[in-house]
Amino acid sequence: MLFPSAPSAEVERLRGLLTRRGRMVIIAHYNPDGDAMGSSLGLVHVLRRAGFDAQVVMPNTPPVDLHWMPGFAEVLCADRHKEASLAAIASCDLLFCLDFNRPDRVGVLEDALRAAPVKVLIDHHRDPDTFAQATFSDTTACATAQMVFDIVSALGLSEHIDVDAATCLYTGLMTDSGSFRFPSTTPHTLHVAAELLARGARPDRIHEAIMDNSTGDRLRLLGFSLHERMELLPELRTALFVLSKADMDRFNFQPGDTEGLVNYGLSIRGYRLSAFIAERPDVVKLSLRSKGRLPVNEFLAAHFGGGGHANAAGGNSTAALSEVVATFKRELPAFLCLYPA
Ligand code: 5GP
Ligand code: MN
Repeated sequence: MLFPSAPSAEVERLRGLLTRRGRMVIIAHYNPDGDAMGSSLGLVHVLRRAGFDAQVVMPNTPPVDLHWMPGFAEVLCADRHKEASLAAIASCDLLFCLDFNRPDRVGVLEDALRAAPVKVLIDHHRDPDTFAQATFSDTTACATAQMVFDIVSALGLSEHIDVDAATCLYTGLMTDSGSFRFPSTTPHTLHVAAELLARGARPDRIHEAIMDNSTGDRLRLLGFSLHERMELLPELRTALFVLSKADMDRFNFQPGDTEGLVNYGLSIRGYRLSAFIAERPDVVKLSLRSKGRLPVNEFLAAHFGGGGHANAAGGNSTAALSEVVATFKRELPAFLCLYPA
């Protein structure tokens, strides 16, 4: 099998860094998702089995949907264990930065990241900053977990991909590829998935653990959002969901409860953009999804200091919710004109 995410020069650089051994820490982006957790935990299992001292540290706690993942119990989350998280990074010899492209994506860990002497970046987002000694960047990879598989294999460490590592990497692959349906799903993706199944990952159990994990409140919030908080802009072929803090409080909002909501907008026939704007305690968060050639990361970068992928991106604003919605509606038509369907 070829390992497209693992160019040999970077692999050799990483091999050199690994020979120094020492303490290794793996971090991923704020609000860790299935790929951030899956790639990080997959790598930590491999490193530990290969005899390295490795620890996962996250900027904040992932949604409960991901707490079942093998190795989660040993993850340090900076929102709960800030001092221990910062101390782990401060004392590490090698810092793996997974599934993000810029130091400001790790929240309270940013300064510690910048201070870490030796960093390795493994990521599939566009325009990675140059802050690492070894940079693996592959924007065609459907998931960082796929890149971790490639890199571990190119290093000759694939024998250490045990059932726990396979389960975590498969979770990253499955979640970031939309259950293997986004255009980023390639023959190589399915080869990697097959290898992970051969090592014991259980697709039925992983899918169930991620997808069949709702609460009644979460389903009611979904129903409410679809019924009461969805605005359709047919001439723009765009759906817009807006949830206020009061809306979310009403349904006892828990992190992750609105995960996937934005995708419903794209299931409307002919629609090519869906937006979800949510009033969080500290900021207003935007999540955009698109179909075809409609790079929503550029729209978010231009107007909301955001970024991400061409068809799935996010951003934030400190303005009031109504103002964010107004700005979004004002700027959207001109953006859509740049990319006629
Ligand atoms: P989501 O909409 O699920 O929060 O994020 C979709 C994608 O956009 C993810 O790949 C995520 O990493 C990226 N993303 C989300 N929020 C931001 C943001 O504020 N800034 C940047 N640069 N990327 C973001
Ligand atoms: Mn990812």
